[in-house]
Parts: sequence; structure tokens; C-alpha cells
Amino acid sequence: MFGLMQQQSLLISSLIEFADRHHGDGEVVSRRVEGDIHRTTWSGVARRARQVAHALDGLHLGLSDRVGTLAWNGYRHLELYFGVSGSGRVLHTINPRLHPEQIAWIVNHAEDQVLCFDMTFLPLVQAFQAKCPTVRQWVALCDSDKLPTDTGIPNLISYEAWIGGQPTDYNWPQLDENTASSLCYTSGTTGNPKGALYSHRSTILHAYASALPDVMGVSARDAILPVVPMFHVNAWGIPYSAAMTGAKLVFPGPALDGKSVYELIEAEGVTFAAGVPTVWQMLLGHMMPTGLKFSTLKRTVIGGSACPPAMIDAFREDYGVDVLHAWGMTELSPLGTLCTLKNKHLKLPAAEQMRLRLKQGRCIYGIDMKIVDPNGQELPHDGKSAGDLLVKGPWVVASYFKHEGGDPLVDGWFPTGDVATIDADGFMQITDRSKDVVKSGGEWISSIDVENIAMAHPAVAMAACIGVKHPKWDERPIVCVVKKPGADVTREELLSFYEGRTAKWQIPDDVVFMDAIPIGATGKMLKTRLRDQLADYTLPDQR
Ligand code: AMP
Repeated sequence: MFGLMQQQSLLISSLIEFADRHHGDGEVVSRRVEGDIHRTTWSGVARRARQVAHALDGLHLGLSDRVGTLAWNGYRHLELYFGVSGSGRVLHTINPRLHPEQIAWIVNHAEDQVLCFDMTFLPLVQAFQAKCPTVRQWVALCDSDKLPTDTGIPNLISYEAWIGGQPTDYNWPQLDENTASSLCYTSGTTGNPKGALYSHRSTILHAYASALPDVMGVSARDAILPVVPMFHVNAWGIPYSAAMTGAKLVFPGPALDGKSVYELIEAEGVTFAAGVPTVWQMLLGHMMPTGLKFSTLKRTVIGGSACPPAMIDAFREDYGVDVLHAWGMTELSPLGTLCTLKNKHLKLPAAEQMRLRLKQGRCIYGIDMKIVDPNGQELPHDGKSAGDLLVKGPWVVASYFKHEGGDPLVDGWFPTGDVATIDADGFMQITDRSKDVVKSGGEWISSIDVENIAMAHPAVAMAACIGVKHPKWDERPIVCVVKKPGADVTREELLSFYEGRTAKWQIPDDVVFMDAIPIGATGKMLKTRLRDQLADYTLPDQR
């Protein structure tokens, strides 16, 4: 017997229609590429998303045709999120920090037919557009009078001219909820990038789950600042969960420096912000020397790479801001776990609570996870056994776009490439990317642990641990360190800082001071490039 409830597809168009109807005056504020602050409402976004849909119909784009974006976080990008996906096309967000050759490769692989870009990226587009024959229409996200005449890009129109004359009502198609909605390529540290192709259903389920109180806890009383880019994994789904709840959205545009982010948080009454650790480092770096405080910010979600304990401490102790450590990946839409305590943990002493907060957190409803040894045998959830992390759930990829790379699943589980422990309460802790683990004397050393200790030293701005070949131990860890401006620490001082903080054999063999650690397109440390840079390095006991 079937239930007798209404059958209704879970569609992205329903989010923007809901936000329009029930939170029409909810604010959407953006710092624009031009530097000024733009203000609109959910109704304004909905109206223009419908105009986007008409503009795409005008180009005779078919169901599931791809529309690329190279854009910062802002209202026009948000309109594209709903207008493109809502009308049955696939929104393909492209990371502008990639090399032009890589971007051209991705655009061609996706067969984008329209490509919308912020004016910041005009030179970038000029560099690769001739290599992208599938693109029929280039759209500059600007007013008509801001579009130069001599760009050399054929079929280029300004966004405002493109959507300006279009009708503001639209009948959103009643799609199958499994229809593709958006596409995001993985950062692809090895081989070509692969596309994660999200569906309307996976996106809505992810938005429901991510808004839960134990996840991001998004509500109509929030003003959210997604510093996480809309060009990478849909800004952690915040555009969708904000529309679902009617939260105010505050977009930082291209200004991600500490001063600009701080000013926006204060001016717009931001209650909740989400970003990768490097962005928060810049923010704290701006606030600390000047003694600035937050007046409205209550919580931040930090993920994308491990959040250093020193950062959690600073936010909580010095600024009264709750840090929620999150883990996820492109293939997971992206959220897998989020770290919030259970009721029983509230009675624990502060230090023990802190040990839990450092972990990447508990499974969100919808996601299941397990850890396995190299033979695929499941490992116990004892908080100690570390193994390869596998996940499954309705917003986890089943296959990559165009089935690139074959079937990625192992018995229905997606291997994340991360190594983790899971404790008896279900708290997962990433100890490493499997390729970054330092294997020393048959034991594994977590590069994240080594980095976190260095980061706790007051003179250290950034730390990256890598394994270096050793004839006896197989590999030994070294730590590469960037010092804070004006601060100093010697190799010996830093190595002695490790004593008592970790097992002796896990203390790195050396410290290499550097001006900068290479960072990839999604703000993560590029250890592959770091290893290349240190190709001629020899450990102290081998010199
Ligand atoms: P991406 O698909 O580019 O978002 O990268 C996903 C990868 O980032 C994961 O597989 C992890 O290796 C890493 N990652 C994401 N969040 C965290 C976190 N909170 N701690 C440690 N690593 C993380």
C-alpha cells in the first residue's frame, strides 16, 4: 500500500518561489566588484532569476544544457543559481583560480553553451575564450555601460542588457527531481578534474539537512556571510539553505581581506559566517592587533581543511564566537559531518570539550560513514583506529560526469581518500589525506597533528608537514613554516615546542622556514608542489 500524500518533485525552483512568497522582503546584500554595496531582496532575486530563465529560453538552450559561471559571491551569481537550475539547465560553477588552460579544458569537457563572468575575470576569459567553441553566448556580469567595446570576445553581452527586457514571470518546469541541476569539478590534484553532477533532489535534501540545528542551524533570524565561494561546491549549499529559511544573505564579492570582511560583518549584522581557515586567519590577523570585537557574529562554520586548535580557541575565548568544525568534499555536495556536542558532553570539563570540538564531527542525517583497513575490513569506532574513510548517502556522487574514471564506488560506498578515526559517540576525526600520511617505522604520523602543534606557537602563521624518504624509517616528517610578520622563532625553539605535546617519534626531524606555502585553487595547501620545491632536500641525519 502506498501512502496517500501529494507527490511533488523536490526542485530548486521551489526554493526561490518559497523565498519570494514568504520572505520577499528578506535582504540580499552584496559587495560588488566595483567596490560599492548593492542591496536587494529575495523577491528581487526571484524576479531576476525568472528573467534569467527567459534569457536562456531565448537562446533555445535545451534541458540539461550547461551554463558556466566564473564569478564571485554576489546577487547576480545568486540569480543564476536559481534561474539556470530552476529552468532545467545545469549551472556549472568554475573556479577562477585555476590556470586558463585548465579552465578551457573544464569548459570544453562540460560543453558549456553560455558563460557568465564577473568583470574581474575579463582578462582571464580573453586568455582562453578562443579555445572554447561550445560557448555560444558570453555574458559579462555588469551594467551595459560598464562593458568595453573592444574586448575581442565574440557574442558578448552585458548581463543587464541580456535579462533587462525579459518578462518577470515564468512557469518553472515540473522536472523529475533527479534531473541534473549543477556541476562542480573537483580540484584534481592528480589527473584531470572530474565533475560532480548534483541533482535537484540531492541539492534540496542537502539544504534540508544542512539547515538543521546540529548542522549549520540556519534560520530566518540569521544574516549569513558565505565567504566560501559560490564557485566551489555551491558555497557549501548556503544559497539554497538561506532561500529555504529566508535568512538574510551577505556576499563579500572579491574583497576577502580581513578588513573588508570585518567591516561587512559589522555593517550588516552578520550572525553566522562560513569559510576555510585561511580566510579566518586573515580576519583574526586584522582584528587582533587593533583590539576589534564582533557585535553580532555568533558562530562560524570552518571547514575545507583542518581547523587549527589555536583558531577555535581565539574565536571562542577572545571573541565569544562558536566555531563549528565541518568536513566535506565536492563529491558530497559538500557536507558530511559537522562538530556539535551532544547533551552529555556539556558537563565535561572545558579541555575535554575542546578535544571533541577539534574533531571534524558527527554524521549529518543522510550520510553514513565507515573506516576500513587496507584489506577493506571495517575498523572499530574507538577513536584510535585510523583507516580509509568511506561514505554513502543521497547527496554523495554515484559516478562522475560522463562516467569519467569508471565506477568510483566500493560496494556502494564512496572512498573519500581521507584517513580518519571515529569514536564511540560517532565523532570523526580526519588524521590525513591518504597520500599525505607520513609512514614512519610502520606507524602512521598524522601530518595534521604535526601542523596543529606548530600553529599553536605564537610566531607561526602557517605550517605544512610532509614526509621525506628515510633509509631506516621509510619516511620522517618535517614541518615547513611561515612565520608571522615581525615574529621570530628558531628551528630549535620550535622543535622543543613539540616536546610533551606529542610522542617523541612523531616530532618532526626538521623545520624548514619559508616565505610562503603553495596554496591551490580552493585555498588548500598544495603539498604536491611543496614536495617538488623540496625535491633536493635531505634530512639532517642524512647530510
Ligand atoms: P574539496 O573537494 O576540494 O572540497 O576537498 C575535499 C577535501 O578537503 C576532503 O577530502 C578533505 O581532505 C579536505 N577537508 C575538508 N574539510 C576538512 C576538515 N575540516 N579537516 C580536514 N580536511 C578537510
